[in-house]
This record gives sequence, structure tokens and C-alpha cells, in this order.
Amino acid sequence: MIISSKIRVAIYVIWFLFIPASLVGTFHVFPPLSSGNTWDIPAFLVLISVLALMPIMINNIPITVVQGVSLAVFLVYGLAIEIVVTQVAFMFIIIRLRLAKKDWYRFPLNSITSFIFCLLSGLVYYGVGGNHDFTSGIDAIDILFILIYQCSYFLFNQVVVIVAHWLIYGKKIEMKTKDAFWDGFTSLMIMPIGIILFVLYIEMGSLAILLVGAALVSLAFIMKQYYFTKEINRHLKKVSEFGHQLTQRLQVNEVLDLFIDGSSAIIPSKYTLVFEIFDEKENAQILRYAENGTQIEKRIKPVSIKEGIYATLFQLKKAKVFHSQKDWKYLSNYGNFPEDVESIMAIPIFRNSVLVGEIIVTSSKKRAYGSHQTKIMDILSSYLWVALENARHYQETKYSSERCALTHLYNFRYFECVLHKEFERLQNQSLNHLSLILLDIDHFKSVNDTYGHQSGNEILCELAERLDGIVGHSGTTARYGGEEFVILLPNVGKEEVYKFAEFIRLSISNKPFTVHSDLNESRRKESISITASIGVATAPVDAEDAQSIIRHADRAMYTGAKQAGRNKVAVYGG
Ligand code: GH3
Ligand code: MG
Ligand code: MG
Repeated sequence: MIISSKIRVAIYVIWFLFIPASLVGTFHVFPPLSSGNTWDIPAFLVLISVLALMPIMINNIPITVVQGVSLAVFLVYGLAIEIVVTQVAFMFIIIRLRLAKKDWYRFPLNSITSFIFCLLSGLVYYGVGGNHDFTSGIDAIDILFILIYQCSYFLFNQVVVIVAHWLIYGKKIEMKTKDAFWDGFTSLMIMPIGIILFVLYIEMGSLAILLVGAALVSLAFIMKQYYFTKEINRHLKKVSEFGHQLTQRLQVNEVLDLFIDGSSAIIPSKYTLVFEIFDEKENAQILRYAENGTQIEKRIKPVSIKEGIYATLFQLKKAKVFHSQKDWKYLSNYGNFPEDVESIMAIPIFRNSVLVGEIIVTSSKKRAYGSHQTKIMDILSSYLWVALENARHYQETKYSSERCALTHLYNFRYFECVLHKEFERLQNQSLNHLSLILLDIDHFKSVNDTYGHQSGNEILCELAERLDGIVGHSGTTARYGGEEFVILLPNVGKEEVYKFAEFIRLSISNKPFTVHSDLNESRRKESISITASIGVATAPVDAEDAQSIIRHADRAMYTGAKQAGRNKVAVYGG
């Protein structure tokens, strides 16, 4: 979350004015109790710091067992020492979050909030009658007071965090009941441990810190391992589902979009870049550039993979992780990496031992990526490349099955499908008219004979381009076969189509075509004027089905244009 530097400074100032003085005040009002040995305080501090460094992250919330220790410290030494110990614990919890420098305001912020809720819950404890006189052991009433203390600790913690969030970010925090539940659940779960630590400490002294401490650290360790394994399993399940979805996509853009969505849901990333290496391993094209999982619509120039950070990243044969800016900033020309990037994970993609692509994910946190994230990203990247190849293959096959290889216009097979669909639309009244233009180049055989077959081909290509340019998205243009072309125009009536066909005829006859004659050695450029004969028919007036509209346009072309002297437009029935 981004906050203004004014607020950041304000937090530091408030901390400076508020915390040292309040600590002194608390020591004055609630002086440390004599029931605990002063020399054991460092031992408690070490224990709480170790536990603070071993959080398990559940939905990005660190859950720790430090509260067990802070409860015991509260019962042994009273409120002032508990506040100090909690301050230290929170400092370590935040250190563990590996915040970027600009987020360091969270140290003073957490110091303030933890001070407030520790103080408030301590006051509640004393307010309801709780004290530190346990000379006759702990009875049910004491347990009730401790329970009230723990509940207010939890509640004040939540309230203070909500208020602080509202004051600083200006909006309500999205409270997830699941997170609050985990927080409350651990508070209660930890309570008996805190009481045991306290009772044993009173009985045994320092040794209790060691014994219970060892048990707590092992518990934290086991919980961490357990959660880690669960996390990996959860990720692997997601990865395999995601892989299946990815390889089912048939469009390259869909594949890339899904990859950005899916990968950033599994591995949080500030910026994700997908590179494809082309140009004989000199340059890489950025296929996608996303910020926080959203594609940035920037036209990004290809990058040289022989310079700066890319040279380092792309020349490695295996995945590489940079843990902080220190690790990569010295590489000059770091191009696309903004200032807020700390961790970088680079995953190369190989096909037949040749580097074909590279995925780069970045985080604004230090040490954001560990080895298991690297492995997961490696699997995701392989899925991505298989899916990309699939989609490309599909798109190429589709293209070549629908297009004429010479002119790249649609072929007649594709045209027929469109024609049948348009007739369906005509029948269910989604269309009013459907016109068809059939065009045949005049005396094309003699063009071939005079300038060569290759020049004939050049004319066909240029004509295809001209037709496509004129028709554009208002209809479908296809090569009917040989030197014949066909155009289908939905919602174009009989009069309009005549004018349109006239326009086409003139744009052929009025502007010569350029060819490179293949009948002489030098392949000189030559201009050739050609003409075309055109027949048109319109449904439903001239035809009721797909076959007859073609037949009628053909008849018009042959009898009304060719036989009437060529370079003409003839309308069926007209
Ligand atoms: P008309 O005015 O009666 O249409 O005369 P034409 O010469 O155009 O008609 P004809 O049907 O006798 O000949 C068509 C020619 O088109 C024959 C063939 O060599 C040429 N042709 C067909 N397909 C291609 C092609 O793909 N490339 C080239 N260069 N020529 C082609
Ligand atoms: Mg012909
Ligand atoms: Mg012809």
C-alpha cells in the first residue's frame, strides 16, 4: 500500500514523541515486579525473538506463538516489561517480512499500535481485578482474568489495527474473518502454554525458559514445516490445474493472458515479463509485461540480450534469483526494472537445448523468492511454452486451411462456409439483402504469355490487395479459383452492389499493375493495364440459396460482361 511521505514522516514523529515518553510513564505507573529475576529478561527476549522469526504465513498474515511468551512475561514482570518484550517481538516479526525501505515506516507504526493494545489489555486485566499475586497458586478466578486479558489483547489488537489502517490509508481495511479467526484461535491456543511457562518459571526459575522455550521453538518449527508442505501441495495442485487450462487455449493472446493471471495468483509478483528470443539470439521480444497481474499496454522495444542485466540473466543456463537490488543493480543498463524492484527471479526456457524464452518475475520485497517458487515457476514456464506452441500451431494450421497461399485471401472452401452462414442469417431475417460479386480478369492468359507466369502471379497478388483494401470488413473477399475472385456483401442491396462493383472495375482498369517481368534476365519493372469482367447477383431477389447466387452471378458475368465486350459490370436479371 502506498502512502504519502507526509504521513510517513508523521508516523516517525509521533513515534518519537509518544513511545519513549510513554514507556518511561508506564515504568513509573506499573514498575516491574520483583517476582521475576531481572537477569532472566534477556532470556525471555531471546526466546520471543527466535519465535518471532519463525512465523507461518497464512494468507500473507504472519502467525506466531510469541504471545505465549509475552503472557508469561506479563504475569511474571507486569505490564511495563511485557510492553518492552512485545515491542522487540514485533520488531523481529517485521524484520522477517523483509520490507522495502519505503515501507520501513511500519516499524514505528507497529511499535505505536502494539504499545496501545498492550497497554489497553493490561488496563482491562487490572480493571477487572487481575493482579500478580500468585503466592497461593493459580485458581479458576485467575484463569478467568487471564482469559479476559487474552481476549482483550486479541480484540484491542484488531481494533487498533483497523483504526490505524483507516487513519493512514484513509479507507476501511478489508477484514477477512478467516484471518481474524486464525489470530483469535492462536491467541487461545497459546494461552495454556503461556500459563505453563509462567507456573514453571515460578517453580523452577530460568530452567523453565529453556524447557518451555525448546518446546515452543519445536512447535513453531513443526508447524512451519507442516504448513510449508501443505503450501507446496496446494501450489502443485493449482499448478497442474492451471497447466491443463493453459494448454487448452487456442489463441496466443489468451494463453499469455491466462499465464499472467494464473502465475501471479500462485507466485505474487510486482512485475512479470515474458520474453521470446528471436533474431539469432541477439534480441528478445517482450510478449507480455504485467504489473500486479495486469497487463501494461505499453509497446516495448525488443531488448538486446547481450547487454546489461539481460545479458547476465539470459546467459545463465538455469533459473536465477536475485534477493535484493544490491545483487543486480551494479549491472548497468537495467532497462525495464523500476526502482521499486528488489527480488528478481529469472526462468530460462529451452527447446531442444536452445534458449527460446525467459520469464522474469519481480517483487518489491527482499528475499521474496525461494527455491520452491523457482521450481513452480519453472513448471509453469514449461506449460506456457507448450501452450504457446500449441496455439501458434493451431493458428497457423487454421490460417493455411482458410487462405490461398499465393494471395492470402480466403479460399473458396472458407468462402462457402461464410456464404451458407449468411444465407442462414438471411433466412432468419437477421439480414435484409446479401449480394455477391464475381470477378474474372480479362485475357489473363495473354498476360501470362507475354510477361510470364510469375508476373501473372504478381498481378493476382496486387489485385487481391486492392480488393481487400476496398472491401475491408464490410464483406468477405476470397479467391474463387484461377484469375477469378468473389466478394460477399451482407446487407448490400441490388443498386448499391452495382455501384460498388463499378467502383471496383474502375479501380482495376484506371491504375496499372506493377510486375517484374520474368521473361527477361534483368526482371525489369513494368506496368500492365488490365481489366476485369464482373457479374453480380443479390439474394433474396435473384437467388434463394448459396448455389444459385454463385451460378447467377457467374451467368451475369459471362453473358452480360464477357460476351458484351469485357471490362463491364453485369447485373443478374438486369
Ligand atoms: P477471359 O477474358 O475469357 O477470361 O480470358 P482469360 O485468358 O482470362 O481466360 P482463360 O480462362 O482462357 O484463362 C485463364 C488463365 O488464367 C489461364 C491460366 O494460365 C491463368 N491462371 C489461372 N490461375 C493462375 C495463377 O495462379 N497464376 C497465373 N500466373 N495464372 C493463372
Ligand atoms: Mg476465368
Ligand atoms: Mg479470364
